[in-house]
Amino acid sequence: MQFHKSTADFFVPDGLAPAAAIARTTHLCLSAHQDDIEIMAYHGVAECFGRQDKWFTGVVVTNGAGSPRSGIYGDYTDQQMQQVRVLEQRKAAYVGEYACQIQLAFTSGEVKNPKETAVVSDLEKILLAANPEYVYLHNPADKHDTHVGVTMRTIAALRNVRDRVKPKKVYGCEVWRDLDWMLDDDKQILGVSARPNIAAALVGVFDSQVSGGKRYDLATAGRRVAHATYYASHGTDQETALNFAMDLTPLAQDPSLDVTEYVLALVDRFRGDVQRRVNSVL
Ligand SMILES: [Zn+2]
Repeated sequence: MQFHKSTADFFVPDGLAPAAAIARTTHLCLSAHQDDIEIMAYHGVAECFGRQDKWFTGVVVTNGAGSPRSGIYGDYTDQQMQQVRVLEQRKAAYVGEYACQIQLAFTSGEVKNPKETAVVSDLEKILLAANPEYVYLHNPADKHDTHVGVTMRTIAALRNVRDRVKPKKVYGCEVWRDLDWMLDDDKQILGVSARPNIAAALVGVFDSQVSGGKRYDLATAGRRVAHATYYASHGTDQETALNFAMDLTPLAQDPSLDVTEYVLALVDRFRGDVQRRVNSVL
């Protein structure tokens, strides 16, 4: 497949031809950075792991430039660091048995620019080739602007191809902000208890990020365990690990829906719930 950036990377862990590799996709994650997929969409990876009828494809939209570095990576140039991150993402795709791993190599600035048509065009191409049943995006209440940028560009792409690509569900997932604040009725509950060894390995291969002192491996597992424990105050937990997601399916299907209003309606429901509970015991 041809993408806008000459540095774009298309990797198929099992060596199938690219067109056939992406066509088998059932679960598709479109993320901003290397390692986001493994933090936000393990649900999709686990659903497809070891199966011949379900396949996970991961997309990283940016080039990983400007990431913090220390230790053995301390004196790496930005160029060398980008190469390290592309390789780490390939390692994750291999461990997770992805159908394919696509890295589009756009800059953060390009992703955040609503007038940049190249990003949306590449995303449309991927959506048409993969025709996924389930899509995993960053949620629009994430506090990393590049994450929100990727989500907005992807929603635009989904809307442009909505006559041909109709995913059953579009999830807005957790990275830089949990979704624990959402009302339980609004939450999409993603069970991620399966194969904790694979879940750990997937985040663990990103050595350049973890060895810099940010324990994403522990934090990602910890968030999932905390969600499973605190989700319901009564009863025993059927899942030992959960992720929460926002349902973004209506936004993909209906171009007239305003994304900001859609998200703020969820925030308002949270506000109303807090107000009601405090008032009830005043
Ligand atoms: Zn990220």
